[in-house]
Formats: sequence, C-alpha cells, structure tokens
Amino acid sequence: MSKSVNNMNMAIVEPAERMKYLSHCGTVIEVDKNMAVTRYYRSGTEMLRMANVYLNEGNHENAFILYMRYMTLFIEKIRQHPDYNSVKAEVKAINKTIKEEIMPTTEKLRNKLLTQYQREYEQFLASKEAERVREQREREAKQRAAAAGVVPSLIPANLHVQMDANNQPTAPELGLLDQVVYPNDFPTGTNRSHLPSSGLLLPGVDTGADRSPNTSSKPAFDRGQKPQYNRTDSLLAGSLRTVNVPADTMDVFLQLAHANTSKNIETCGVLAGHLARNELSITHIITPQQQGTPDSCNTMHEEQIFDVQDQMQLITLGWIHTHPTQTAFLSSVDLHTHCSYQMMMPEAIAIVCAPKYNANGFFILTPHYGLDYIAQCRQTGFHPHPNDPPLFMDAAHIKMDSHAKIKVIDLRR
Ligand SMILES: [Zn+2]
Ligand SMILES: [Zn+2]
Repeated sequence: MSKSVNNMNMAIVEPAERMKYLSHCGTVIEVDKNMAVTRYYRSGTEMLRMANVYLNEGNHENAFILYMRYMTLFIEKIRQHPDYNSVKAEVKAINKTIKEEIMPTTEKLRNKLLTQYQREYEQFLASKEAERVREQREREAKQRAAAAGVVPSLIPANLHVQMDANNQPTAPELGLLDQVVYPNDFPTGTNRSHLPSSGLLLPGVDTGADRSPNTSSKPAFDRGQKPQYNRTDSLLAGSLRTVNVPADTMDVFLQLAHANTSKNIETCGVLAGHLARNELSITHIITPQQQGTPDSCNTMHEEQIFDVQDQMQLITLGWIHTHPTQTAFLSSVDLHTHCSYQMMMPEAIAIVCAPKYNANGFFILTPHYGLDYIAQCRQTGFHPHPNDPPLFMDAAHIKMDSHAKIKVIDLRR
C-alpha cells in the first residue's frame, strides 16, 4: 500500500474513540493558584472569541475543544483557585452563558461530529473493501491469464504501480479517502451553497453558528479562499499555531517609545489581533498607561486595555517592550511577565526592541521546561535563574508579514 494510504489508516479510528479523544483534549486545562484569578476570566473571554471564529469557519473540532475547555475551566477547575470567591458577579454571568449558549452549542457540535465521524468511518471501510475487491480481481485475472498461457498485459500493472508510487491518487475510492484525512475540511452552515456534491455535510443539522454571539455581522466565509485544514492544523495536534507579525511592528513601536528611550526609560505595549483560518495575526499594539524605569516597565489600569480589546474583539497575542540600553533578551522579570501571557495563550510572544544594538528579539519560554519552571518560581523582582537548560528561546512559530501594517491604540494620554 502507498505511503499516503498508510497515513490515512492511522487517522481513522472508530467514531466513539475519536470523540473520546476530542473530549479529552477539551479538558486539558489547568488552573495555577499563583496566577491572578482575573487572568482566567480574561482568558475565558478570548477562548470564546476564538471558538466562535472556528465555528463560523466550519472548524468544528477546534470549536468543540475550546467550548469544552471553557466549560471545564468555569464549571470545575476555577473553583480550586483561592480567590474564586472574590469573583462572584462574573461567575454568575458565566454560568448563565454556559447554560444558555455554550452547553447547547457544544452538544450540537458533539452530535454533528459523531455523525461525521461515523460517516467517514463507513466510507473508509467501504473504500477499503473496494480496494480489496479490486486487488482480488486483478489477482484472479492474472491467474486466468497464466492458466491460459498468455503473457499478462503491462498496462493495468503499470497503472497500479503509478497509483502506489504517487501521493496523488486518482481513483474515486482514494479520492474519498482523501477527504477522510482532512476531517475539518467540511464547509457548513452559511456556506452550504458552496458544498461539494459528495454529500458529506448532513443537511438540517444546526451547528448553532447562526445563534452564536458576536458573529451575526460577519460576512459569509468564502470557501474559495479557505486553505485545506488538516490534522496538523487542529488543536488536536498540540503544535503552536502560526502568529503573523506585521513587519513594521518594531519600527512603529520604537517611534512610540522614542521619547522614553531617549531618557533611558523602558516602554511596553500589548500585542493583540485575531484568529482566522487557524492562524493568529497581530494587528494592534496597545500602549497602556505605564510607569517605566531603565530596566522595567509596569502597566497601569489594565481594565482600559481589556475594554479596548472587547470593543474590537481582539485576542491577546503577547507583548512588546524596549531595552533602551541593553541587548534583546528576556530578563528574569520579563520571564515572569511573559509566563502569564504564555500560560493563557501558548502562542503568545514577547518582542524585545534593543535600538542601541539595532536588534529585535522574538521570544517564548521553552514550552516543555521554561514555562513550567517560571510558573513554579516564587521569587519576585530581579533574581537569578539557572540558564541551562534554556528557559526561553526564539519563537519559531512567527511569520513576518511585509504587507500588513500594524495599528496603534495609545492609551497613555
Ligand atoms: Zn526586558
Ligand atoms: Zn523567577
């Protein structure tokens, strides 16, 4: 069997098993008692923002995972936080949202995905059977030919070899298999008119997309522009999603920071943006009211940042700050600052601009070591950390976008 078919086999499991794994992914969320409880409520808001994007784009698995995580966080895990009792009003509001919107939407998604998995599984079995029958026929034909003393024709054999060697199967049954590997690539909801005729979408199944909040004004998604989703695109894969960074971000920020920089004072800003087609894109620098020193910068009135983000539906994607006289690296205080960002959003980046060295750094805490290490570290202020193994690294999941222009929201005055 060809390589592509083998890969497909791995992706196919029984519908109930797939659903179980998906649900498991939806419960992978932990509450750190040392993280401010308000952070989790902020994070919840952004989680829903992203879930709604996935839902609108027809990426039902990712939508389901995020809704499940939201419920896991606010029905169960957040209660373990020592400050849980201080957030009563939010708790009530969230419980209401869960009951009225998220639970029913999640249940519909679950049923829809289960039906989809079932159908894909049946198609997979059917195409496997078709393959088996075809191979058997070929064998029988060869046997008959051999019995009759005829040299077998080269043509069918050639065809067969070609199909195995290429990763572009053309036979109808393999075409079907192709769709099985990309379970997320099913248009839904408002895009039904763009449906392929394969009938993979189940008509009449309401995804809840039309009722989800903040989505009614969104234009219908253009199927023609939609890249193919595949397993590596999914939150199931656990890899970091791409973060697009407008190439002018650092220059624009350095201009904003210029007055401070010339006085040897740090400047900081929040990087915010949106999610589309499973990629995150930074669109805005929000510079909050702040107090800077030569080697630190503290944000004040964070609620103003949140207000702006809520108005514009922006997701927090990291932060940016200057090192007026030092090189581009993350200080011990920076590591702790970034830890809160990365715990809430694994893709969050820290950009450090070091104008004196004409250098910019794009950093994350090492996901399998630094993040946990810093989360456990109870020291404050500047303090030494061991640097081997490394606590932070260059962000490899960013992509510079030379066409995009960063926008600025300056809250400092
Ligand atoms: Zn710094
Ligand atoms: Zn520390």
